[in-house]
Amino acid sequence: MKPIAVLGAGIAGLTAALDLNRRGLPTIVFEAGKAVGGMASSFKDAEGFSYDFGAHFVSNRLAAALGSADICRTVKHYGEAVHLNGRSYSYPFGLMLSPRFAPAAIAERYRDRPVVSAADWFRKKYGEVLAEEVAIPLTEAWSGAPAEELSPSVGRKFGPRILKSLYLNAAAKVTRRAVCNGYSHEMPESADVWHVYPEGGMGKLLEPVANEVRHLIRLESPVEKILVEDERVKGVRVQGETIEVSAVVSTAPVHILPKLLSGTRALDHMAAFRYRPMIFVNLRFSGRGHLPDTMLWVPDRSLPFFRMTETPISMPWLAPEGKTLITFDIGCEVGDQHWTMSDDKLAELCLDGIATLYPQLRRKFLSAGGVIRTPVSYPVYLTQYEEQRQRFAETTGVAGLYSIGRNGEFAHSLMEDVYWRTLRRMEDVAAYVGQMPQDLPFADEIARRMRPAAGQVAAA
Ligand SMILES: Cc1cc2nc3c(=O)[nH]c(=O)nc-3n(C[C@H](O)[C@H](O)[C@H](O)COP(=O)(O)OP(=O)(O)OC[C@H]3O[C@@H](n4cnc5c(N)ncnc54)[C@H](O)[C@@H]3O)c2cc1C
Repeated sequence: MKPIAVLGAGIAGLTAALDLNRRGLPTIVFEAGKAVGGMASSFKDAEGFSYDFGAHFVSNRLAAALGSADICRTVKHYGEAVHLNGRSYSYPFGLMLSPRFAPAAIAERYRDRPVVSAADWFRKKYGEVLAEEVAIPLTEAWSGAPAEELSPSVGRKFGPRILKSLYLNAAAKVTRRAVCNGYSHEMPESADVWHVYPEGGMGKLLEPVANEVRHLIRLESPVEKILVEDERVKGVRVQGETIEVSAVVSTAPVHILPKLLSGTRALDHMAAFRYRPMIFVNLRFSGRGHLPDTMLWVPDRSLPFFRMTETPISMPWLAPEGKTLITFDIGCEVGDQHWTMSDDKLAELCLDGIATLYPQLRRKFLSAGGVIRTPVSYPVYLTQYEEQRQRFAETTGVAGLYSIGRNGEFAHSLMEDVYWRTLRRMEDVAAYVGQMPQDLPFADEIARRMRPAAGQVAAA
């Protein structure tokens, strides 16, 4: 059988390769970068501060499934808050129970409102006041699009289930562990699923899987073309070499698939799918616990950032003792004023911003800790392509082409969901290659080998 080509060695590509390999299916992983891990990677600077490029929070269940439970530390606390009009509210209950928001939310239950956009969905779910003051400005900041132009799927993805959240919060208090809440949609969350962090950084989480499939991985080998004939995948082109394949499993962002595909125009419409670029600015401060909780949402359009994360509140080992690190998320467009701003200027902008909320932090500021710019961060669910997005979630429309992972599925998936969804999708891949007609020359060769030689027949 010709190999199955996997594009990308992040959690999705590695999980796919491991599963296909264990099924005995020939697999090659092509990774464009110099290392495996994709977004799951961390970096420690000379001053002892650690930064994660993507994920900070993963579950003990994912660590166990990946074989890295024994290198993970338990995270004891995780919480989110929202800063609004000079005060902070815990999320979700502080906000929902506030007399400022609760009456409008209750009134909304009795109102019949058509839901055709994310803005409608937020108003219906949280009431007019909470939607207008919190949910809509935050959604617009991270997506870069008006909430009226976003599909209701945006809200459905994030809407907390109140009773379940209450139970999980209570479980966290009783067990003194950061019980996951809203981090997995594919598997049930319970008191037994809590946040952990791997010793040595996020990349370590994937090491056991990477070790098992290392012989299948080609680093610094971006797939340049996926070759399609009669709407069926036939091969890939990598560094000028054409390799025949039986299927392709891609983790690349969907908007570049049309450029990768050769021999079909079936996915041309995906070029219009948008990802929101982001800038992550890190600032170092003396002291710790400056934010009211690990993550602070800031629905304030006058500030350049919409979220701040103080990871050492949850993972104290990510900063030297007595110091802390705060990461600021700035939604942007490639080439805009923030994207092109110098790192020093961005740090200054964030320091000025946080000082308007917490003036004492200006005195505690130590230094800027680096800036990460990423052109592909969050998928933007515009209503204009919602139907196509839903269709793509079922099938790519090209036989033998599977698109998986966060960017490959164009979904706001966190690592654990990426893992379970990938395993499920590999069943489809195995079924597809299992029922593929063998190429004639290969089938002829097998038939020839099985045919007894004339002499043997005579002897019999
Ligand atoms: C800011 C941010 C915060 C997050 N926080 C969390 C969190 O706290 N918890 C959590 O669970 N998840 C979190 N996530 C999500 C998590 O990081 C992702 O779900 C996960 O890392 C996605 O893995 P992946 O394998 O799908 O993609 P990636 O990790 O992006 O891997 C894709 C790989 O494909 C390679 N590639 C692309 N094109 C090609 C090509 N043509 N040829 C060869 N290789 C190619 C890339 O180089 C890359 O290595 C966060 C994400 C972001 C952006």
